[in-house]
Amino acid sequence: MATQAHPRIVEESGAPVGQVDPPTFREAMAHWASGVTVVTVRLGDAIHGMTATSFSSVSIEPPLVLVCVLRSSRTHDIIARTGRFAINILGAEQRALAEQFAGRRPPDDQVDTQLAWQTGRYGAPLIQGATAHVECLVDTTYEAGTHTIVVGRVQAAVVDARKQPLLYWGRDFQRLEAAPIAGVRSKG
Ligand SMILES: Cc1cc2nc3c(=O)[nH]c(=O)nc-3n(C[C@H](O)[C@H](O)[C@H](O)COP(=O)(O)OP(=O)(O)OC[C@H]3O[C@@H](n4cnc5c(N)ncnc54)[C@H](O)[C@@H]3O)c2cc1C
Repeated sequence: MATQAHPRIVEESGAPVGQVDPPTFREAMAHWASGVTVVTVRLGDAIHGMTATSFSSVSIEPPLVLVCVLRSSRTHDIIARTGRFAINILGAEQRALAEQFAGRRPPDDQVDTQLAWQTGRYGAPLIQGATAHVECLVDTTYEAGTHTIVVGRVQAAVVDARKQPLLYWGRDFQRLEAAPIAGVRSKG
């Protein structure tokens, strides 16, 4: 018996019923404020980096973080091959680096021709001048749409508490204007 094809029901926007359309989704996500990181990896003598805002702390004991990495990116390939990566949390003065490691050309007066690297305790390439670095071993990976959620077990973390963070909000880089909201501070 021939099977009957069911018509695909779509919203006016063209998106399947029950699924947001891409422009609306992007617009909603533009309202999410985050810090800015560069994921760095090493393959032999080659050092590579990629700007990422999908970074998050996951667990304290054990110490776990996550970052979502586009499966077609070079960074994804190197993480899959080496099982290692580092997260560099950028400072407010490092916008040009964020542009550079996203494959965008920063304004000419901001191109960093003197990009300085240091080697972490466990051998990861770290960007000098970041507010914090964490070196990770891949713990678990989960495929999710076009990306892989990479969960890293943190081996080492280094902080430069003097620096302010670079932020990303409203499709642009921002800096913190410290204006604490009055209220009861939670303990812990
Ligand atoms: C604000 C923002 C947030 C983003 N968040 C994410 C995210 O969470 N996850 C995600 O998957 N993508 C994210 N992206 C997109 C991602 O940064 C780009 O797709 C990136 O180009 C992918 O990198 P790649 O590994 O394919 O390497 P490439 O595109 O080959 O490299 C990226 C760029 O980094 C520079 N670069 C790399 N290594 C070095 C080096 N050793 N020295 C100097 N320069 C170097 C190169 O100039 C190159 O143009 C984000 C982009 C932006 C702007």
